[in-house]
Amino acid sequence: MPLTGLFSLRNVHTRSWVMSEQGADMTNNLQHEYLKAMGVQRWVARDSGDAVTGECLPGQANTGVEPVVQGWLALEAQVSSCKKCQLHESRTQTVFGTGNRDADWLIIGEAPGADEDRQGEPFVGRAGKLLTEMLFAAGFQRADVYIANILKCRPPANRDPSPDEVACCHAYLRQQIALIQPQVILAVGRVAAHNLLQTDSQLGRLRGKAHHYGDTNIPVIVTYHPAYLLRSPLEKRKVWSDLQFAKAFNKQQLAVQD
Ligand code: URA
Ligand code: SF4
Repeated sequence: MPLTGLFSLRNVHTRSWVMSEQGADMTNNLQHEYLKAMGVQRWVARDSGDAVTGECLPGQANTGVEPVVQGWLALEAQVSSCKKCQLHESRTQTVFGTGNRDADWLIIGEAPGADEDRQGEPFVGRAGKLLTEMLFAAGFQRADVYIANILKCRPPANRDPSPDEVACCHAYLRQQIALIQPQVILAVGRVAAHNLLQTDSQLGRLRGKAHHYGDTNIPVIVTYHPAYLLRSPLEKRKVWSDLQFAKAFNKQQLAVQD
């Protein structure tokens, strides 16, 4: 059984893991200190050591959250030199993710486009600007949240990610999720929603419900992609209501933890 199938954030509530700071970089250690000061414990795998990135096995893309086996610096370095799928040949650079590594909200899009491939940051083109505006309208600065994509490299001509590319790349996103431990994941667009939830249901049917990421208890809220809103501006009100839904859910989560 691949290691990726063994761990989930639900294990936070079991005692099967021991707490360790082994393998975490300085940023992560600092975060641990804050969490400890707040009485929140973060659990990592007992046998943490070598970086675990999972296998490129379609169908294994979303089996839960991997243990925090390496810190942000190591993960970022690993991604920037990744050649696990063919997209490494056509990319200008990898697009790791950006924002608050301690965020309550994790926004997940599809894959870098031309602008993102050039600048190395997700959602910086026209659609990205609209996403930033929508977040702002909902009360968030871009820097408050963490923003990432299903894929770290741009598919040529912005085609859909292939299942094997997603399977190769998802281990990185899974580790980011494990490091951030967000209160809410906002899946923007069909590709993000389908891959995070392992479904092919219509986007409209996935909205308005709290799904969960893999076998974790992290809620996933689905909304439209800003590129779609550029074509159909009247749908903005639906995204607005999805953001309100996500916010309310976030508060509930906080209340449960208090
Ligand atoms: N669309 C996405 O899904 N992600 C980006 O980073 C840019 C455009
Ligand atoms: Fe590696 Fe992901 Fe880029 Fe493929 S898309 S080369 S798996 S970083």
